[in-house]
Amino acid sequence: MMDVAVFGANGRMGAEVCRAVSRAADLELAAGIDFGDDRAGAAGAQVAVDFTTPDAVMDNLRWCIDNGIHAVVGTTGFTAERYAELRELLAAKPQVGVIVAANFSIGAILMMDFARRAAPFYESVEIIELHHPNKKDAPSGTATATAAKIAAARAKAGCAPMPDATEQEVPGARGADLDGVRVHSVRLQGLIAHQEVHLGAQGETLTVRHDSLDRVSFMPGVLAAVRAVAERPGLTIGLESVLGIQED
Ligand code: NAP
Repeated sequence: MMDVAVFGANGRMGAEVCRAVSRAADLELAAGIDFGDDRAGAAGAQVAVDFTTPDAVMDNLRWCIDNGIHAVVGTTGFTAERYAELRELLAAKPQVGVIVAANFSIGAILMMDFARRAAPFYESVEIIELHHPNKKDAPSGTATATAAKIAAARAKAGCAPMPDATEQEVPGARGADLDGVRVHSVRLQGLIAHQEVHLGAQGETLTVRHDSLDRVSFMPGVLAAVRAVAERPGLTIGLESVLGIQED
């Protein structure tokens, strides 16, 4: 049995993680810590899962690494500076592993991977991400990550710039330009989290679409990371390597 603590245990994602850990035969929910709780309750855990807030997560991670507890992190707001600090903290505790993933949905990770693989074969690639209207950021972190993967794959393959004859534009009509990839953000009542990647060549198109319908969809990815993190000392960004998806 592996003892798992959950930071942000009363939040939407944290509560779902507590349920998933409690149901898993090989995992034990050692502690559920929320805002104001004493972190000492998590001291006996082997792995801590953090779904808190961008303001809280770094302090939790400093504490985990200090205490030799591996961490699986879904909280957003990671910057290059934050990753650099984590690497520094982990260098002092070389046995500790931390996995940070902006998206734990296996379908979303596969969608990004399929899009990345297909992108060099098509002249045009555009992303449409569609979310509920309460979402604060646009484009979504997943769309931003997808655009970066597509741009890198196309640059590596030496693709020409995408054809686009637009000369006059109402600002925003062609979406945001992320690394040369157009990203369109839809905010619509009734939606949850969805993304389409449209690829086009002369005479054919290919569309890759992913729909997140429930937070439960993140749990297989979270549990896979919890089971893998102890064997991955240092910092792992993204779930691709945990799932055996190699970026070539
Ligand atoms: P949420 O419902 O607001 O949950 C956050 C919880 O963390 C709240 O209960 C909050 O308590 C608690 N908290 C705040 N500071 C804390 C601290 N220092 N220690 C322990 N708990 C603390 O948010 P959510 O929807 O679950 O999302 C949580 C994070 O995960 C966000 O950053 C979100 O963007 C991200 N997310 C990631 C994925 C992924 O796949 N990686 C998927 C969905 C969401 P109070 O309410 O009392 O402040």
